[in-house]
Amino acid sequence: MTMVDKKIKITIDGKEYFVGSDQTILEICIERGIDLPHICYNPILGKRNTGNCRMCLVEIGEGDSRIVKEACQTVVRAKMVIHTTSRRIYDLRRTVLQLTMSQHEQACRDCPTSGNCPYVPLCQDLDISSTVVCAMCPLQGESCNLYRGNICLGPLTYSGCNAYCTRNGSTCIGCRGVIFHEDLIRLAVIDYNKKGINLDHVIDVIKLFSFSEEGKRVVDEIERIRGGLE
Ligand code: SF4
Ligand code: SF4
Repeated sequence: MTMVDKKIKITIDGKEYFVGSDQTILEICIERGIDLPHICYNPILGKRNTGNCRMCLVEIGEGDSRIVKEACQTVVRAKMVIHTTSRRIYDLRRTVLQLTMSQHEQACRDCPTSGNCPYVPLCQDLDISSTVVCAMCPLQGESCNLYRGNICLGPLTYSGCNAYCTRNGSTCIGCRGVIFHEDLIRLAVIDYNKKGINLDHVIDVIKLFSFSEEGKRVVDEIERIRGGLE
């Protein structure tokens, strides 16, 4: 006798679904095209996924008794009510991603993920200015401006406003402003030095594009790091 897969009814963001009773919330969202962020999830691991990235957090329940769970770790139950986009979830995801990015060494120019980085869209969605333009730049390897000896503020510029760029005819690859994260500025300075790019020229270009106090702060930081490296 074969077992008949039992379907149960659940609600996700106000919409009802009939789903397999042994599925996780994340599996269902992926299957149904419901946009739920996830970085570490690997479908091959199935229920052995560990939920480390905490990006797939959802709220379960109604009213004041809602609880927060990782969607990749939670198997559905009949009549479960799931919320993927509440204010609480947005704030939690944002905090988690900020913590993640604060620990993440952004060696984007040498990263195999560059150009297809999973952090860039998440940082944009959650309004976090923590990924540098190099993470989404199409000019990788020998095409990179720095590799060719040209100045580029990519390593010092945070990525993407998703605006339409009339010059390139594509989505903006980012000129939103200089990045303030001290570790990222340090990485950029080391990178410029390695490529033999004159830091004075870099500073001149920053001053050209960023007149604000923030631009000045970054220039001061570059000078300080440069002094320490000499
Ligand atoms: S491209 Fe993305 S994953 Fe790679 S180092 Fe940069 S931020 Fe990290
Ligand atoms: S330094 Fe400039 S050209 Fe090179 S990867 Fe970064 S943004 Fe692209």
